[in-house]
Amino acid sequence: MSKDLGKILLAKNDIIIDNWIAAVREHKDIESSKNLTYKSIRDNLPIVLRGLATLLSQPLNNRQQIIEEKGIEHGTIRAEQGYDINEFLLEYGLFRKIIFAVLKPDLVSCSGDEILQTVDTIDSIIDHVIALSLESYIELRLQELQELQSQLILNNQELTRLVAMQKESLSHLAHEFKSPLNSIMGFSSLLLKQQREISSGQDKSLNLQFLEKVIGNSRQLLRLINNTLEMSRIEAGKVPLSLEWINVRSQIQTVVEALEPSARQKNLQVILKCGGAPEQVLSDPLRLQQIITNLVSNAIRYTSEGSITITCEVKNDDKWLIKVADTGVGISPEAQKQIFNSYFRVASVGGYSPDSTGLGLAIVEKLVSLLNGNIELVSELEKGSSFTITFPKIIKLSS
Ligand code: ADP
Repeated sequence: MSKDLGKILLAKNDIIIDNWIAAVREHKDIESSKNLTYKSIRDNLPIVLRGLATLLSQPLNNRQQIIEEKGIEHGTIRAEQGYDINEFLLEYGLFRKIIFAVLKPDLVSCSGDEILQTVDTIDSIIDHVIALSLESYIELRLQELQELQSQLILNNQELTRLVAMQKESLSHLAHEFKSPLNSIMGFSSLLLKQQREISSGQDKSLNLQFLEKVIGNSRQLLRLINNTLEMSRIEAGKVPLSLEWINVRSQIQTVVEALEPSARQKNLQVILKCGGAPEQVLSDPLRLQQIITNLVSNAIRYTSEGSITITCEVKNDDKWLIKVADTGVGISPEAQKQIFNSYFRVASVGGYSPDSTGLGLAIVEKLVSLLNGNIELVSELEKGSSFTITFPKIIKLSS
């Protein structure tokens, strides 16, 4: 008497699924299943199994379709769950093994033909489901690969752009370092030569000008290194702000007191207009001082006669401003476009100003933006320049 193996399979559906999930979880090479819940391992295999049972009883076309749909879904789900192809195939191997293990007691009492037919049907259906699942699994992986590839192309473009930018600034930096270094080396060897001549009695005095050149160039090199480091620290986001309520008027006063001697040396008048300054502002005192110092020292450096006027006032309910204006050489409209770029300097008749690095305003601009501010320049050649910075009364720190 022939048995309805489809019915038996249907009756044993739960036990097959339970045994299969336990086997998948225990299998040492199906790592991806370890973090999945019982339900997400099971997903739609019971439907595949039910379809298989129905097919064993009476092959129906719509059942076949259910198997196809669920098989496709199974591959997609496993790909999304992060299964690799090996885990995926092992899982189906276990499925096949457990079906036969559970059916074995019923199969042994069947005729040889029946056994062969059942094994063949189960095998071909499982192979069919594997093929469908594999197709959808691979399709999803290919889609992912395509997305990754486009992302990689974009990243690569960005990286190439960054490397090119870095190359440019590195070669610029090397160029900037070279001239003070050459000078230091040249004058140092002249000094050593003189020193030897003095020791051997051929010469009597050391040329102090050489010594001054060495010291001057060493200072310039140090300034360059410090400014470059400061710039890269700011760019790397390594300048933490420490905000506190400060009296900006006394902050300006401190800067002016420190710089007044160099203004006096050039007979420049320093005028303070801080009557309308806010009583208290929330800011980083150190960074604010750095900004003001930079602007005022530039104003002194690039002005040969006249005055420097520093204004500080409340602009409106939310903002306050500080303006540093001079009656100096001024900046041409073309130079104004690049004035905040790193290493940009305007050469005057005698060349660059000796202690100029071209990094001061680039640092100022970065610091102003760190403090949520905005900097504007108005300048006219031979008339003077004025830098106005507007700050919000309340600074929002970006996390
Ligand atoms: P540095 O002063 O070290 O060269 P900065 O970035 O501070 O670097 O300035 C860049 C260039 O901008 C200077 O070389 C100078 O030519 C010009 N500059 C800056 N401030 C003024 C100013 N107040 N008046 C005229 N030119 C200025």
